[in-house]
Amino acid sequence: MGGSRSIIAGLVASLLASSLVPVGEVAAARKPEKTRPKQPQPSTTCEAPKFRIVVDVGHTPDSYGALSARNDPEFGFNFRLARLIAAKLKSGGFAATRLLVTDGKARPSLFKRVGAANDGRADLFLSVHHDSVPDKLLEAWEFDGAKSYFSDRFSGHSLFVSERNPHFTTSLKLARMIGRQLKEQGLRYASQYSLPVMGRYRRQLLDKDVGVYRYDGLVVLSQTRSAAVLLEAGSIINRDEEMEMNSAERQEQIAGAVAAAVGEFCERR
Ligand SMILES: [Zn+2]
Repeated sequence: MGGSRSIIAGLVASLLASSLVPVGEVAAARKPEKTRPKQPQPSTTCEAPKFRIVVDVGHTPDSYGALSARNDPEFGFNFRLARLIAAKLKSGGFAATRLLVTDGKARPSLFKRVGAANDGRADLFLSVHHDSVPDKLLEAWEFDGAKSYFSDRFSGHSLFVSERNPHFTTSLKLARMIGRQLKEQGLRYASQYSLPVMGRYRRQLLDKDVGVYRYDGLVVLSQTRSAAVLLEAGSIINRDEEMEMNSAERQEQIAGAVAAAVGEFCERR
């Protein structure tokens, strides 16, 4: 695991250094609000080669999100899957797809993401994450000689949209398409978000067939000017599912489902 982690760190360092993903500069380079020209609205039609999709890698190398049952940071899981999703979209004709990798601390990184998407006039924003559970549900075990934490109680993917997003209906439509594609792959969604045990993480279930939840306050969903969806691809705190999320087969399956859903979304626009 340590090996793959350092490979990821190297890849991320080179990506952040390259001009392909200049997100580190976004906040500093932004013009003051008053002098900024009016932003064109995201397009209402979809021409695949020109359709600007931002695939956002959740969290940063410094603020890596959840820790898996085997002590691997969520950021690495997000990076591998988001990169694959972006590659599949590009090879499927969405040539203007961008992988968004952000550095720095958690909270400022959220606004860097929104700034990068809005300044780049994204038509679609998709944030890729992997799930954990509230701390009170964690159980201790030993992995690799170290005290570690897990919860095998819940598993599955989930999708989130914000009603505060200016394109809420469109976001919900895309989230449902992604959910349906994942369901067709035989994957089950995480149903616990509507349960009281989730406490402050409890969410309203908008689509009980394919697992779309409402998460209004999330910065990357509510502040982006384009339609926006957040995908929790699976639980890495669940010991079995962590292994599955690490497999090339599962990553291919999820990335394929997302790309197929975006293709369908574009065709119907
Ligand atoms: Zn996350």
